[in-house]
Amino acid sequence: MSTALESALLPVYPPVPVTFVDGDGVWLTDADGRRYLDFAAGIAVVGLGHRHPAPLAAAKAQLDRLWHVSNLYGTEPAAALAGRLSERFAAGASGLGAHAFFCNSGAEANEAALKYARKATGKPGVIALEQSFHGRTTGALAVTGQPGKRAGFEPLLPGPRFAVPNDVDSLHAAASDDVGLILLEPVLGEGGVIPLDPAFVAAAAALAAELGALLAFDEVQTGVGRTGTFFAWEGLGVRPHLVTLAKGLANGLPIGCLLVADDAPAGFAVGDHASTFGGNPVVCAAAAAVCDTIDETLLANVRANGKRLADGLGSLPGVVEVRGSGLLVGAELTGPAAPIVAAALEAGLVCLTSGANVLRLAPPLVASAEDVDRALAILTEVTV
Ligand SMILES: *Cc1c(COP(=O)(O)O)cnc(C)c1O
Repeated sequence: MSTALESALLPVYPPVPVTFVDGDGVWLTDADGRRYLDFAAGIAVVGLGHRHPAPLAAAKAQLDRLWHVSNLYGTEPAAALAGRLSERFAAGASGLGAHAFFCNSGAEANEAALKYARKATGKPGVIALEQSFHGRTTGALAVTGQPGKRAGFEPLLPGPRFAVPNDVDSLHAAASDDVGLILLEPVLGEGGVIPLDPAFVAAAAALAAELGALLAFDEVQTGVGRTGTFFAWEGLGVRPHLVTLAKGLANGLPIGCLLVADDAPAGFAVGDHASTFGGNPVVCAAAAAVCDTIDETLLANVRANGKRLADGLGSLPGVVEVRGSGLLVGAELTGPAAPIVAAALEAGLVCLTSGANVLRLAPPLVASAEDVDRALAILTEVTV
């Protein structure tokens, strides 16, 4: 394994075990020329695989035309991407479209959702879930249900209440008249890969209606095909008012997006929110190409190989339970997952943890059955 380059970076990340220099499809290459099968995809970001020709060509063409003008003016790629996302929303929501606000990250997309709900409802309260993850900015962190991540930074936004995932009673216990937003991840990606039950999501939608609150899905990790549908909420039987996207949307270029359903209460007016880089033409051109590439064939691949991966993980030693949706799969282990992730990296497989005891796999959506079997073979080797 290559040694890490000497770093002048602030040490907020764990020590770097390897420095990657090239990517190609589901493969990464380190500085020593060693190849790794990438089942992390930059934490569920590089959905089409490294250097996919469609976003690569779109970004290169846009780099040669126009990089930036600010949102005081129009650009073709941002308008085109908003149109693509509205069409995708309509396809999952019986014809009802959505309008987009573009920013640069998942946390920013959730900040936009928090502000939108506050403006639209006039109410500051938020119900989120224990173990949830919504980002590291102070607003997104305030509604993140992991006390360890909030520690040292409080007081944050006042008023969030946390319900237990899939526990309808705790959801009702968190209800209050001042709640203007219920914020849910369809699958809790950082909190142990916990898929929400359709019944729990239906109860959240009913509660939002009762309280006059907006229902938002944080699809930063689950969106853009990761679970085998374009949006994960398509499989849950509930249409949200707000959806946030980021990770996979531009296949590795930075982007965030708040989508507001066309029947949501009015929120933002001119001057209420903005982002200098949001809607960047190069990034939006890449993202539009990503949207165009995620077709029914690719989504069927995600569902089939997600199942293959989950089934295979279920027969590994030390696996207590396999959870997830599509190609976002978690295997809860009898012990800590970090040593398995480290051993897998040593053996040529890049994968992730999710919480202490869960091994998380989020390969590119284009991963083949052969790639899945190769990953399972490496995991079998390192878990025995
Ligand atoms: C990664 C993630 C975020 C934060 O995204 P950043 O781009 O790191 O700000 C928010 N919500 C979910 C569900 C995520 O997985």
